[in-house]
Amino acid sequence: MDSKELYVGFVSDTEDNHPNYVPGWVGFGSDYNKNPPTLRWSWTQYWSDLSNCFNKNDVPVTWLIRVDDGPVYDQMLIQNKEKILELRSLGDEIGIHVHTWLWNSNLSKWIQTKNPDDEVRIVKKSIKMFKKHLGFNPASARMGWNTMSNEIMRIFNANGFKVDASAIPGTLSQGKFSKRDNIYDWSKTPYNPYHPSFTDYQAEGDMKILEIPLSTLKKKSGNFAKLVNKLSSFPSLSYFLPIARFFNLTPHHHFYISPYWSSSQYDKIIDTYHKQAIKNGLAFLVGYFHGCDILNPLNSKLNLIFQEHIQKIINKINSLNGVEVKFATLCQMADKYVNHDLNKNFR
Ligand SMILES: [Zn+2]
Repeated sequence: MDSKELYVGFVSDTEDNHPNYVPGWVGFGSDYNKNPPTLRWSWTQYWSDLSNCFNKNDVPVTWLIRVDDGPVYDQMLIQNKEKILELRSLGDEIGIHVHTWLWNSNLSKWIQTKNPDDEVRIVKKSIKMFKKHLGFNPASARMGWNTMSNEIMRIFNANGFKVDASAIPGTLSQGKFSKRDNIYDWSKTPYNPYHPSFTDYQAEGDMKILEIPLSTLKKKSGNFAKLVNKLSSFPSLSYFLPIARFFNLTPHHHFYISPYWSSSQYDKIIDTYHKQAIKNGLAFLVGYFHGCDILNPLNSKLNLIFQEHIQKIINKINSLNGVEVKFATLCQMADKYVNHDLNKNFR
């Protein structure tokens, strides 16, 4: 094969505003410290502005729509059904994004469960609600807080999902925001797409579903990432963010498109996967973001830095030499991987 291809996917966790315990979102975020919660959706007024950032560049987006068995349930699906189906008709992909919350009455907070029985119940119910409201099966997914378990991966596989993109290779988190969420383990997972094992979601095996990890630099997460996790529950962290951008600091080694951290990391990640495409003939570059970041919580206006980041990233990818760039959805990437006879190169 002569031509070298770089498949590029942009994936959105599409849900309510960030929780108000996320620094900077106090007063504008959803309140998860009560039951029922107060959910805030103000970012959705700018959803078209966000989708236009991609649309005008002929770049499809994979929108992963939030469903859970409390506290959001099917509200996102019901409120935004028209918008979701419109995006689908324009060539975007609609998949599912499940958060595994449980109400903890002792702490008076919604917190992430890692109980397999609860995870199974929540994920199964969420898929059912998705089908009921949208009329089709989801085929792509990302779990809330990047979490995963053998049980969840088996449910996705049994429901005919083509692809999951929850993995951040080389990372492990025992919880952020005073350990209430972000509990996940991808410490042993491959950096390139793989079919998971039924008994170990981080290992290659016989499942039909493909795991396409978020694009990640092979680097140990340093003390800066640990410090940010430790400070994550302090609202004052938000005052630090402009300084972090100025000094090109980010705790992330994966392709997380966020207006709050320096954009310096994006170029390094893009260059790494560009090189891989030239070396192997094919590579998959996947970046993710949160739809709600199109709202600036300080003034309720469009977040211009976020729009700038997205355009810069697309421009950079379009300027790459020596590869054919294909912007694609998660399922299109999975189809390419499965049908590609050189996929052994990725092992
Ligand atoms: Zn989420």
